[in-house]
Amino acid sequence: MNLSQKSEAVALLFDQLGQESKQFAAESGLGCISGCGACCANPQVSASPLEFLPLAFDFYSKGLSDTILTFLDSEEESKSCIVYRAHSEDGKNGYCTNYAKRGLICRLFAASARKNKYGAKDLIICKKLKEEKAEKFAETTLRINSDLVVPNASNYYQQIEEIDSALAQQYPINTAIRLAMETVLRYKYYQEEAANPES
Ligand code: SF4
Ligand code: SF4
Repeated sequence: MNLSQKSEAVALLFDQLGQESKQFAAESGLGCISGCGACCANPQVSASPLEFLPLAFDFYSKGLSDTILTFLDSEEESKSCIVYRAHSEDGKNGYCTNYAKRGLICRLFAASARKNKYGAKDLIICKKLKEEKAEKFAETTLRINSDLVVPNASNYYQQIEEIDSALAQQYPINTAIRLAMETVLRYKYYQEEAANPES
């Protein structure tokens, strides 16, 4: 698989997750608090370059790679996810400027579960939702362990790993985005070199 095909494989996986998440949200009634961007404001969130390949290809196709990389040089790991725009003073309310190309972690939070050491399913969820939607959280936790189908986070991480284990390594989110963009730039450079060997 070349890099472009890997990006397409990631996007396909996201489509599948999107369908499962949509059904889970509709049946559980659990979802993010409107306007909240608290987890996007946390630059310590871990992610892999692989899950941001679709975003990196998108930036490249829009001619934004150099601008974003320069911006990352000044901002990396210091503030929020590079794709996030805050609109509150504390930075915790805002929006994702490229929601369609967000990473795997962004899609799993508040919309998936993993097994705990006792074999029961735990929702992957933030403190804010646990507190502000405590009743819904408790009810959904019971239901995912009985009748409600919930996306399986470990399964999605495994599928990502199978696409490219090296690119599936975890980093702070902005480092992951940077590595994805650098990988795409290298790939495009060699593709152009191969297409125009005389230039
Ligand atoms: S997961 Fe929680 S902190 Fe993150 S955007 Fe949703 S409600 Fe906010
Ligand atoms: S890519 Fe979008 S959804 Fe994911 S952390 Fe960044 S701003 Fe938030």
